[in-house]
Amino acid sequence: MEDPQFASLGKRLMGGSLSDAALQQASEGTADYAILPWVNVVKIGGQSIMDRGRSAVGPLVEEITANLKSHKMILGTGAGTRARHIYSLGIDLGLPTGVLTVLGTAVAWQNAQMLHYLLARYGIPFIEPEGFSILPHYLMERGAVICQGMPPYKLWEANPLTGRIPPQRTDTGCFLIAEVFGARKMIYVKDEDGLYTADPKKDPMAEHIPRISLQDLLKRDLDDLIVERAVLEMMLHTRHIKEIQFINGLKPGQLTAALNGEPVGTIIYRAGSENGGAA
Ligand code: ADP
Ligand code: MG
Repeated sequence: MEDPQFASLGKRLMGGSLSDAALQQASEGTADYAILPWVNVVKIGGQSIMDRGRSAVGPLVEEITANLKSHKMILGTGAGTRARHIYSLGIDLGLPTGVLTVLGTAVAWQNAQMLHYLLARYGIPFIEPEGFSILPHYLMERGAVICQGMPPYKLWEANPLTGRIPPQRTDTGCFLIAEVFGARKMIYVKDEDGLYTADPKKDPMAEHIPRISLQDLLKRDLDDLIVERAVLEMMLHTRHIKEIQFINGLKPGQLTAALNGEPVGTIIYRAGSENGGAA
């Protein structure tokens, strides 16, 4: 028996323009399937964690390995200080955003390589986007995989509204992985206890915000944030990831607590989505 709903959607898709608003509305008809609903995407900060070397990365690697049996993780890496250096050179040379993105991706890749070799003895592979089809197998077998955090747009990265710095960097790349796989959680591991009213490194009066809705946060229009703005803009329209969590990777136990579902650090959630979504 042919499903009449599908038959009518099928006819419209074959015959109409894909930009037709009514056709786009009709494509909402089916529920979104979560591909890896048990996986946790964990972004390891570039400047905030990797650039600190052994003192920060060592204990975090230990905490990751201690969680391998109980939580499955896609570990994405940030870029950090070396990317800032190469962005400054590229901008000085007049290179466009797409080229800056190629350069920044190489730095996130370096951090992913280092994390990979530290975790190699546990059988954890580094996987490029082209190899993602094998990722479920490694998650089942070994509990984690490593990837570099930049979205794979490279030369195709669109210009930001202002300036030339790639607007979609590693916070965004990891977020998009979590969204497309319908992940259980999106956890950002950085070097502060989460979101504050201002950058706590610059403003000693900054106040910690343990939980805030995405809508409230956007309304506050803070001058600086712990996360790329592109993530917040995308989170207005996600189908799976309706919460993201920020924790302090310099404090042992915070990653474990977040993986266990505890409200450590800061949680940003999309209001109106309380009955569904990750984190
Ligand atoms: P990553 O290492 O993941 O790239 P970033 O260095 O880009 O992380 O972002 C984390 C930093 O953001 C923190 O170390 C903090 O100094 C800064 N920051 C800026 N604004 C805020 C804010 N409102 N709340 C918390 N941290 C902030
Ligand atoms: Mg950053």
